[in-house]
Amino acid sequence: MSSRILPNFDLLVPNTIAETVNLLAHYKDRAAVIAGGTDLVVAMKMNFESEILISISELSGLDYIDFDSESGLHIGAKATVSQLLQNDAVKQHYPALLQAADVFATPQIRTAATVAGNVLRGSPAGDCSCALMALGARVVLQSAEGTREVPIEDFWTGYNQNARRADEMAVEIIVDAPQAATGSAFRRMTRVNEDLAKLNGSVRLDMDGNICRSARIAMGCVGPTTLRLPKTEQLLQGEEITDDLLAHVADIVPTEISPIDDKRSTAEYRLMVSGVVIKRLIEQAAAAASTVAK
Ligand SMILES: Cc1cc2nc3c(=O)[nH]c(=O)nc-3n(C[C@H](O)[C@H](O)[C@H](O)COP(=O)(O)OP(=O)(O)OC[C@H]3O[C@@H](n4cnc5c(N)ncnc54)[C@H](O)[C@@H]3O)c2cc1C
Repeated sequence: MSSRILPNFDLLVPNTIAETVNLLAHYKDRAAVIAGGTDLVVAMKMNFESEILISISELSGLDYIDFDSESGLHIGAKATVSQLLQNDAVKQHYPALLQAADVFATPQIRTAATVAGNVLRGSPAGDCSCALMALGARVVLQSAEGTREVPIEDFWTGYNQNARRADEMAVEIIVDAPQAATGSAFRRMTRVNEDLAKLNGSVRLDMDGNICRSARIAMGCVGPTTLRLPKTEQLLQGEEITDDLLAHVADIVPTEISPIDDKRSTAEYRLMVSGVVIKRLIEQAAAAASTVAK
């Protein structure tokens, strides 16, 4: 039941990652990690209870966004959505992520909300999550036993569920460095910026002149998790992006999604706009790729 009063919990504030993962190994499902708290606190006011919250606020060195032309973009677990908007590498190489951050909530929320928290929350409406799915991110998880990387398409296992074990915390999100002519784009449909998306989509294209070498296409709010659209991706691979192809794409997209009616929109509306949204995103990503290639 919705309430403005938080349930009781103990707050633990470790100073190191080692201490954090040891606490997680000890408390397992009895504990939840809290980053910006913009999802978790809301959930706790609704129906989520956790005996223990482990805050990452005092962990040093996790608030970075670094770029390297070989290893790509590295987003530390404490890096916020507003940091994306100020980062030169994100502006230059990852337009989809920049555009997702730009429409994300309000400045106050963006300043607290972490990029990793958006992914770990596992909402099918997550905006950075959708862009990161199209960009082909990996989630780095750490436990007392070591670290492992999970490709984002394997990370969300169901509505609000993910591949993190109870003894792990996310320490980093990695996005590969773009190819010579990579373009990407993100867009969402929403009532007002303060609200979550009714539908969001993101596209990454690796181009060779006018020919699409490969495509990654993601859509949110149309299934239990953010989805990849493999049939639509396949249609683009090795093809020139023409008006005919885009018309075909717009017909195929609705066959790959399974939206429902909820408080933000209807399945009918989502099915109706999905093809056009992806068609426009492909045009936008192709234009971005041609700018990079020049
Ligand atoms: C008013 C409002 C507007 C919003 N608008 C948007 C929007 O426009 N777009 C959008 O996508 N989202 C939106 N959100 C949702 C929310 O802000 C984001 O999902 C945000 O990125 C979550 O990050 P956080 O740091 O606050 O995570 P938290 O709330 O701290 O945590 C979220 C989940 O991730 C887990 N978690 C966080 N960090 C880690 C970690 N390092 N290791 C393991 N688990 C971890 C937590 O245990 C929890 O389950 C909105 C929320 C509010 C309240």
